[in-house]
Amino acid sequence: KPRVFSGVQPTGNLHLGNYLGAIRNWVKLQDGHECIYCVVDMHAITVWQDPADLARATREVAASLIAAGIDPKGSILFNQSKVAAHAETAWIFNCVARMGWLNRMTQFKEKAGKDRENVSVGLFAYPNLMAADILAYKATHVPVGEDQKQHLELARDIALKFNHDFGIEHFPPPEPLILGEATRVMSLRDGTKKMSKSDASDQSRINLTDSPDDIEQKIRRAKTDPEALPETVEGLETRPEAKNLFTIHAALGDESVADVVAAFAGKQFSEFKKAMTERAVDKLSPLTSEMRRLLADPGYIDQVLKDGGERADAIAAPILAETKRIVGFI
Ligand code: ATP
Ligand code: MG
Repeated sequence: KPRVFSGVQPTGNLHLGNYLGAIRNWVKLQDGHECIYCVVDMHAITVWQDPADLARATREVAASLIAAGIDPKGSILFNQSKVAAHAETAWIFNCVARMGWLNRMTQFKEKAGKDRENVSVGLFAYPNLMAADILAYKATHVPVGEDQKQHLELARDIALKFNHDFGIEHFPPPEPLILGEATRVMSLRDGTKKMSKSDASDQSRINLTDSPDDIEQKIRRAKTDPEALPETVEGLETRPEAKNLFTIHAALGDESVADVVAAFAGKQFSEFKKAMTERAVDKLSPLTSEMRRLLADPGYIDQVLKDGGERADAIAAPILAETKRIVGFI
């Protein structure tokens, strides 16, 4: 079976972008693949995290993943800091990747903003750790949202350079799997920015834990434009906010955007938003209640992560030993 690896940061609660762009595909891939899913707490601390919040978010994200359909017995679910191979492989990759490669990463530029002298070294080296996450297991398939495409290309470059430098086919270059209708869900407040956990405005995203009232209110207030609903898919091209809402609605209902455009042509935005709210609530409510149920037993999630960490380590340890031998570590 092909080996799949993917991760999500415990930087807050999961949102609709994470769900449609990544998690939903993680669930589907469990069929026919060996899946390793990781709550990447080491990535999260590249920007400041209050320790108590980090621990709580790690458990909540793990619970959300199980609630969304990740099977913690069939798949491996754990938090990154439990398995030393991530950090150890990342150090070696810090010495394989070139400054010039990392200087081109757009996520660093976005997250660092203007104050580039004052962000952590970890934020800059983040893509090397991400390459290590994947290659520590020799995973070949990596389901991610569109925003991670550039980091995946870097992971491929690192694998190829390592193999070339040491003259051995050790790391298979991993492939991104960017699947579905909604590979880049945008902010509800700004159709040019992606929906993010770390966006300061909670109004910009629909969290998987939002109540039906929250969801209704956020969609009602979501930014739109004054034009009528589009008659064709092309009519959405110059309307980022409308395009985003149509894409979300289509993805939630497993429809194409063209079907949604056809269904609402000539109708009011308010009518569309009502239908979208209904769909989002229907999809997310059961997930939220299942997550709360899982968190009510605090020992359960910790046990899942411990067990997952041990199973992950059993795969990573021999690969790490081989990596170290190739590098010349005795
Ligand atoms: P942060 O703002 O802290 O970076 P995030 O919302 O970007 O958080 P991540 O944990 O970085 O979430 O990403 C987890 C997964 O979700 C990745 O596969 C990423 O590509 C995907 N993802 C994140 N945001 C979106 C989005 N708006 N649309 C589609 N996929 C997304
Ligand atoms: Mg992100």
